[in-house]
Amino acid sequence: MDIELLKTFCDHSASRQKWMSELFSSEIYTYATNSKSLVRVNRINEVLNTVPESIQSALKDMTFFTDLEYLPLPEFPSHFWKECSICQGEGYVLVCPECRGKGIVEWRTAYNFYSDYCKMCFENKFVPASWRDKYELYQYNSTEDICPECLGKKSVFNNSDFMSVHNACLSVPELNRIKQLPDAEIAFPPNKNYVQFRFDGGEIILMKAKPEACNEES
Ligand SMILES: [Zn+2]
Ligand SMILES: [Zn+2]
Repeated sequence: MDIELLKTFCDHSASRQKWMSELFSSEIYTYATNSKSLVRVNRINEVLNTVPESIQSALKDMTFFTDLEYLPLPEFPSHFWKECSICQGEGYVLVCPECRGKGIVEWRTAYNFYSDYCKMCFENKFVPASWRDKYELYQYNSTEDICPECLGKKSVFNNSDFMSVHNACLSVPELNRIKQLPDAEIAFPPNKNYVQFRFDGGEIILMKAKPEACNEES
């Protein structure tokens, strides 16, 4: 199993529940979750992080069904795609030369210390790779990297995008994440507030959104 791919399901902004920001193991499985989806793979021995007792017992109560009929993942209608704002559709970025990837700039005088958000990258921490030529940043030798936001795909989805799949209203960015997994397929356990996926190496539960979230799509 590709650990880096699994980590995309962690909640990296989880400040309240820090255990969500990393993979963790419990009994015979290793998990990743961002509270919308829960990914489960056979235990990866090098993942030693554990979670609070209450979470462990909640995990035991999560039902992964074994007798489901799986279907291919849906295609995304083109209106869901939008240009990635971090790399501006280039797919490649430089670490912001102004703030050095911090998102804020800081400077001090003899008496004062100042900080402000970076107006070159607008706190994105990265700028499009073409800015090296455009702004003649030749003296700045940051290497070009694949854009961390769109992973080089040049387009992204809004976190607020949902689509209806067999009457289940599902988060488009989550579906897209799941699509990156090998041989991912979807199934619909009856009378549950989640859908289930299987892929080569594991399974996923994805919570359904409220139907209203999909009705707003035209
Ligand atoms: Zn910056
Ligand atoms: Zn990008």
